[in-house]
Amino acid sequence: MAFDMTAEEIRRIEALARSKSPLIVCDVDEVVLEFVAPFIRFLESREHEFRSDSFHLTGNIYVKNTGHPVEKKNISRFLNDFFAEHDGWQTPVSEARASLQSLEAEHGAEVVFLTAMPPRHHARRRGLLDAHGLTQPMIATEDAKGQALAVLLQTHPDRPVAFLDDLPANHLSILEAAPATLALHMMAYEPLRRHLPPLPDGVKSVKDWPQARTEISTFLANTAGLR
Ligand SMILES: [Mg+2]
Repeated sequence: MAFDMTAEEIRRIEALARSKSPLIVCDVDEVVLEFVAPFIRFLESREHEFRSDSFHLTGNIYVKNTGHPVEKKNISRFLNDFFAEHDGWQTPVSEARASLQSLEAEHGAEVVFLTAMPPRHHARRRGLLDAHGLTQPMIATEDAKGQALAVLLQTHPDRPVAFLDDLPANHLSILEAAPATLALHMMAYEPLRRHLPPLPDGVKSVKDWPQARTEISTFLANTAGLR
């Protein structure tokens, strides 16, 4: 499914896949770690500028001293360079750790980080999350997120699932794999929110972790009676 996981993570993910506890599947960039804000600072350090003009990176990045937009292929290069040193730039989203810990304690929920990044960056990201006390297992994959969730639901397809992500396409993939999922849209970088395309049916927007925690807590309390 994914490469470059630690042996400990492989063991924990196999255990997660056998468990019937409620599952919280949590994206990393823009949900657990700030992504857009530090990426903008990274671009600044390379004499480029980001303008929040649409819900894309392409077309929004400009060369500072000429004002020319950056071509798509060069944006991929910036992203690669950023991920190769992202642990020096990214910081946790406010209240992420405390919220996840309280959901684990209150509902016996199990958390897995599901990040859409090339698995070769796994160790660097793992170290960064650990350094901030975000020690839950992580799956780094470029496959559709629904595929990873299907593996986690193989043994107990009816276990409750809450999912958090900033990208509508990931919600569609998850809801296709598990339609009963509580799908919450969260995006830490506020200025891009107004450019968001309409969210897919069944996806609810939350503005921050305290609100997400309330939504997930209510959902898990309601499903507890059904388990
Ligand atoms: Mg994300």
